[in-house]
Amino acid sequence: MRFLIGVDYELFFGSPTGTPQRCMIEPTEALLGVLEKHGARLTVFVDTAYLVKIQQSRERQHRNAFDHIAKQLQTLVSRQHDVQLHVHPHWLDSNWHEGRWHIDTQRYRLHDFSPDALADMLQEQVACLRAITGIPPVAYRAGGWCLQPFAHLAGPLHAAGIRMDSTVYTGGSSVNPGREFDFTGALSDDFWRFDDDPLAPDEAGRFLELPISTVTVPPTFYWRMLLRRLRPSDAHRAFGDGRALSGSGAYYLRKLFSWESGVASIDGARASMLPRALAERRRLGGDVLNVMGHPKSLSRVSLKLLDDFLLAHGSTFDHHTMSSFLQFEGQAPSTNSKGASAMAG
Ligand SMILES: [Zn+2]
Repeated sequence: MRFLIGVDYELFFGSPTGTPQRCMIEPTEALLGVLEKHGARLTVFVDTAYLVKIQQSRERQHRNAFDHIAKQLQTLVSRQHDVQLHVHPHWLDSNWHEGRWHIDTQRYRLHDFSPDALADMLQEQVACLRAITGIPPVAYRAGGWCLQPFAHLAGPLHAAGIRMDSTVYTGGSSVNPGREFDFTGALSDDFWRFDDDPLAPDEAGRFLELPISTVTVPPTFYWRMLLRRLRPSDAHRAFGDGRALSGSGAYYLRKLFSWESGVASIDGARASMLPRALAERRRLGGDVLNVMGHPKSLSRVSLKLLDDFLLAHGSTFDHHTMSSFLQFEGQAPSTNSKGASAMAG
């Protein structure tokens, strides 16, 4: 089984946004401590819109934060981890005022920008990452899973050097107004090639889709989460010191009353479902477990659960980053994991 872990490295987007130290730097360092014990490799999907924003800020504290982040990203790369592209474009419209970020999410999706504006934005962000790490990013994960319709993004992403996406999770969907996505028609294969629709495999397509692995989440999981909110404990408290954007009522109701296809994740209590995600992947005949998470949402409990999981299974995994996976499978012209691995191997 090939194992990847990719985290969205970002602040919160509610009020307050939290600090880069607590939402990004400290939890990523703690996560590395766990992963490196087991030989696992981390891919960090950097919210590069935020990074460019603080790089261009006149505030000293933002430029200091930029320097700290750049240093952490350089350390990651020097230790065989991976730095890739994640974009929350609403940073372009958000401003620092009287000691805090004023977040404007009217343009939350890349689709809210024209193709020309998008091309310029992505070129600038890719250049920013490249200047820090010395390596151009090749993989993309959409902010808030807002990937569709991909045809709007395909040209600008490809022109910016992106060859791979890891946003789709099979069976996933969201009804949050303005943040909808629908991956219910996606294959459950380990990976596939596509061109302008990640749900439509195309062997000659420009991109490789490496979907995030899924796990069947029972509604009881969310009821337990609600109960835990009433009785907060230190061990469950997230590293991050900000607040998430809230969802619509329909979004939460659906979670509380129906089973869903969720992402295999190391965030908070979701990390308890890693063994189940692995078992479900195996049952489907899969050869890749691609787990996600957010440093801001990690807790002492989730890191312990990840540590236990890797202790049990890590030595049987073939550990990859997005770029090592792309190098290995990038040319394989198949949509099927097994066949493609056999050909590439
Ligand atoms: Zn994100």
